[in-house]
Amino acid sequence: MGLIVQKYGGTSVGAPDRIKQVAARIARFQREGHQLVVVVSAMSGETNRLIALTRDITTTPTPRELDVVVSTGEQITIGLLCMALHAIGVKARSYTGAQVRILTDSAHTKARILSIDETPIRRDLDDGCVVVVAGFQGVDAAGNITTLGRGGSDTTGVALAAALQADECQIYTDVDGVYTTDPRIVPEARKLDRITFEEMLEMASLGSKVLQIRSVEFAGKYKVKLRVLSSFADTGEGTLITTEENTTMEQPVISGIAFNRDEAKLTVLGVPDTPGTAYRILGPIAEANIDVDMIIQNVGQDGTTDVSCTVARGDHDRAMAILGQVREAIGAREIRSDKSMAKVSVVGVGMRSHPGVASLMFRTLAEEGINIQMISTSEIKISVVIDEKYLELAVRVLHKAFGLDGSAA
Ligand code: ADP
Ligand code: ASP
Ligand code: MG
Repeated sequence: MGLIVQKYGGTSVGAPDRIKQVAARIARFQREGHQLVVVVSAMSGETNRLIALTRDITTTPTPRELDVVVSTGEQITIGLLCMALHAIGVKARSYTGAQVRILTDSAHTKARILSIDETPIRRDLDDGCVVVVAGFQGVDAAGNITTLGRGGSDTTGVALAAALQADECQIYTDVDGVYTTDPRIVPEARKLDRITFEEMLEMASLGSKVLQIRSVEFAGKYKVKLRVLSSFADTGEGTLITTEENTTMEQPVISGIAFNRDEAKLTVLGVPDTPGTAYRILGPIAEANIDVDMIIQNVGQDGTTDVSCTVARGDHDRAMAILGQVREAIGAREIRSDKSMAKVSVVGVGMRSHPGVASLMFRTLAEEGINIQMISTSEIKISVVIDEKYLELAVRVLHKAFGLDGSAA
């Protein structure tokens, strides 16, 4: 018996029947004697529909009003789920983010949670009630509705689990755990029984959207026991995200492969090779709030050099406009860009004690004739930027080359 926070994603509540099945699962947990706080996302497709609706009005909505609109999807699901619970005799009350005072900063569309008021939640739990909270949304100190970024309901779930010191935070989704790579791309992908926070954080940051990055950061920081499970299956332990490294079995070198299609590459050619150049190029991009991922500067020749970086594809046009101005200001020769880039990364704590991961990765890609355009490494990951058209092939061949397919552990 304990306090469990369960989060159900969009497909898990995607239709009335699915919502009824979620209600039945909650009832089962309650019968077993658990106290339950449930976080739900909007029904699948709903947040995209709402965003599209705002675009029909304007392509430049004020962030405050954008949040007012896109946060509504979750309000529908909390009400529907409570009705489904009432219909099977389970006491339940719904709350929007503002009603349980999920206090955030004022960074609309990507707000961070600062605190949560547990009082109404504890009161309802003590009263035998299931507490159903809208994911993805909060309220800032001035009372404005905020949202937490795409996939943000995961973070609502983990933040509630941290605030309430829950025994476990269970993230229910449409796959039965975290896999060695996205099972939609590689059917041979294997479910992992456990993965370390460190690895999960890399996987999430490098494109595996099964958990929002911030939810993993939050869970690591507040020591929340975090598990990813399927809402479509009634059995299975899912994947536990843990601080413990696997010391009992032989550590696999690579735990997973992450990828992101959403990359664009920008290059400034013929830049005067003088101190401050990188700052003069990248400073204005950072000031425009555009995140730069990889950066490469070539060896200077004849007093000039080339600088390349990657940004999210959605930021490409803005970043190119800025570089156009920078080029003139610093007297660079030319700017170029390519919007169809993708990033593939191999991730694993086992890499620390195994040399040769990079060479196996590069050889595997070379054998398929896939050209690597940029490389970046950290202690537990190697990422390469390649042409998007080779992305799926690259993920498949790397998955096989690192022995992640099927039963090969
Ligand atoms: P939800 O709506 O429940 O939040 P998401 O679509 O956000 O679900 O996340 C689940 C999806 O994440 C899966 O359907 C799967 O395609 C994708 N995914 C990407 N990488 C992985 C991975 N390594 N393991 C499992 N799922 C992954
Ligand atoms: N509904 C939001 C989204 O689609 C939040 C979430 O599902 O986690 O991004
Ligand atoms: Mg999600």
